[in-house]
Amino acid sequence: MASPSKRRPENVAGDFFVDTTCIDCDTCRWMAPETFDEEGDMSRVHAQPKDAAAVERALQALIACPTASIGTAEKHDVKRVAAQFPLPIADGVHHCGYHDEASFGATSYFIVRPEGNVLIDSPRFAMPLVRRLEELGGVRTLFLTHQDDVADHAQFREHFGCERVMHKDDAHGALRSLERLIEGQEPVALADDLSAIPVPGHTRGSACLLYREEFLFSGDHVAWSEARGEVYAFRSASWYDWDVQIESMRRLAQHSFTWILPGHGRRCTFAAREMRSRMAACVKWMETVR
Ligand code: SF4
Repeated sequence: MASPSKRRPENVAGDFFVDTTCIDCDTCRWMAPETFDEEGDMSRVHAQPKDAAAVERALQALIACPTASIGTAEKHDVKRVAAQFPLPIADGVHHCGYHDEASFGATSYFIVRPEGNVLIDSPRFAMPLVRRLEELGGVRTLFLTHQDDVADHAQFREHFGCERVMHKDDAHGALRSLERLIEGQEPVALADDLSAIPVPGHTRGSACLLYREEFLFSGDHVAWSEARGEVYAFRSASWYDWDVQIESMRRLAQHSFTWILPGHGRRCTFAAREMRSRMAACVKWMETVR
């Protein structure tokens, strides 16, 4: 739990606070923007939640925080809120919460589908979440978008017996023994409704997962930028090769989808046609940045 003795002076007075262990992962700011914002290189409480719904969102952020850096002066029924995860987004797609510091607080997702549930990137192996995933039918497949967001993948494999899938070019060390490694640059059909799309650039073996030609789980390849109001790629985090990432974005823009659900950055949804034009604008912008 966050420590009152480490409470940042930048927080406004009152119940909720962020302490000095914050790693600035952005999670609380997109989950409860009416309460949290960024000040310096950490989050803070810029306004105390004003109603019950805002308190609920702030408590959800408290549970999702990878470093337990959010605290409260008052007592809240945190157990009840913890049981809400994974949080529904749309059509069986959920936000897992329980972000893991090992993946710098990246967001992981969970798809409930009759053919078998899919976990995208690894959340913390936290028992309240694990129990909920069991209740929802367990995990058949764990898709890892790239090497940075694997966190507790081995514990999920051990517990659920799930098949872990990632691109071979990111499978270093122990990751080489994952159950399924995809290769090359062409999309790979994992099921009728699931395709792995290699998108080298952020890392050499980055890959997106496309579900039902609607939901694109994009890892750190592409996200929505709240500040720019655009679909966006992180130039400063293109660890492998920016030119290669631009080419990956061009190929990705030819696919149809209506959601972008990233590891870092914000999610967004648009009608397919608008998404296509926003993807095209992103490629154009990327070409201007060197
Ligand atoms: S979720 Fe936690 S670590 Fe991430 S920005 Fe908020 S307080 Fe900091």
